[in-house]
Formats: sequence, structure tokens, C-alpha cells
Amino acid sequence: ILHIQDLTKTYQSTDHTLTVLDNINFSVEEGSTISIIGPSGSGKTTLLGLCAGLDRSSSGIVELNGIRLDTLSEDARAQVRNQYVGFIFQNFQLLPTLTALENVMVPLELRGEKNIKPQALELLDKVGLAERAHHYPTQLSGGEQQRVSLARAFSNKPKILFTDEPTGNLDAETSEKVVKLIFDLNREAGTTLVLVTHDAELAAKTQRILRVKGGKLVSDERTGVAV
Ligand code: ATP
Repeated sequence: ILHIQDLTKTYQSTDHTLTVLDNINFSVEEGSTISIIGPSGSGKTTLLGLCAGLDRSSSGIVELNGIRLDTLSEDARAQVRNQYVGFIFQNFQLLPTLTALENVMVPLELRGEKNIKPQALELLDKVGLAERAHHYPTQLSGGEQQRVSLARAFSNKPKILFTDEPTGNLDAETSEKVVKLIFDLNREAGTTLVLVTHDAELAAKTQRILRVKGGKLVSDERTGVAV
């Protein structure tokens, strides 16, 4: 479902070029689970953003569900994202002027679905936040915002879900719930999972682990977790 070839990302400053990702190659099979690990600043978040079509590569190929993202305009990439992609990021990216419920309704609305309110409520209920539906992001704790973000990602019925430190600032109990929901989505709906994480225990739950260091892919291992 995801094919990355000779992927390079550089940032240009006034006096030098910073190479953040250097000639990355890998593919991800549909329905599989994979983690991306590596030290802080190694380029994991940048790689995730490129794979999800949030950002554009400097060179190289990013193909998602058979569509070349690296040659598409921002608008066309946004369409691909709305159609196939879910993401949960460190800073949640909830819209501050919308309630939890409205945030979850956005992707459903974009897809032109009907009866979106009951659907969104059901998703909030799934993440244990039905009673917080009418709260704004600032009125929710970090863990609650994380779960709204999860419900919103689910509402997109994504073919592929990208998560950046999905359990980063959650307590052990909430973290366990979130992890279960993410893996349920893989088992029940066949959603491909791509997780960036510092958590070795979480990474070991996925079928494959990619290690990034200094912008390079330094290892690609199967964990032995059953498909
Ligand atoms: P962490 O685990 O700390 O989140 P990471 O592996 O996800 O780190 P990235 O966030 O991908 O790392 O950043 C990789 C490198 O790219 C860092 O050195 C960062 O400073 C640099 N970088 C990221 N975005 C930009 C930007 N817009 N302009 C310039 N440099 C950037």
C-alpha cells in the first residue's frame, strides 16, 4: 500500500543544506503493522509526514495506494489524505474552535456522509469520551485530546493509519486503551498501521520495525508477530 523509493528530504537555510532524510527505501504491505524507531531528531516525524502526504519530498518516490504523492499538488494530496489516510500526531491537531464531536464530524462531512452526528457520537463512545462530546479541545486533558484525535482518525475509515507517538503523553491505563483501539482497527478493518514510537514494547507489537538514524534507514526487521 506504501512504496518509498530513493526518498530524500533537505531543508535549505541561508548558508547550508540540511539533509534530514537520505535515500530511504522501503515498502509496506496492505493490512500489515510497522513501527519506525530511532533517536530524537533522526527524521522519523519527517518521514511519517512525507508518507502521509502532509509534506513533499525533495526527491524520490512516495506511492500511496498506487498514487504518486511526490508529483501531486497540495490540493490533490489533501484529497488523497481525505480518502485513504488517518493520522494521530503528537500535538493532536484538533481544530480549537470546534467541539470534540464537531472535530470527529469533519472527516465524515468531507466524505459527504449522511447521519454524521450519531456516527461521530458512536466513535467518541468507543474511545470512552461520549460525555465529553461538547467540550472544546482546551477543556480536555492531553489524554482526552489524544482520544478525540483517535476517534477522528477512525471516522475517516482509513486504509492506512499513521501515528506519531500515539501513547506519548498518556498514563499507562489510557495508553493501553489507545493501543488496543489502534490494533483492533487493524484486525477488524484491515487498516495498515504505521507507528512512530520511542516505546520498544509498542514497537514489538508490530510485525516489522524500521530503524532510522541520522536520516538513514539502518535496519528493517521482522518481529515474528503473526499477520
Ligand atoms: P523526535 O523523536 O525528537 O520527534 P524525529 O526523529 O521525529 O525526532 P524529525 O522531527 O523528523 O525527527 O526531525 C529531523 C530533523 O529535521 C531535526 O534535526 C529537525 O531539527 C529537522 N527539521 C524538521 N523540520 C524542519 C524544518 N521545517 N526546517 C528545518 N529543519 C527541520
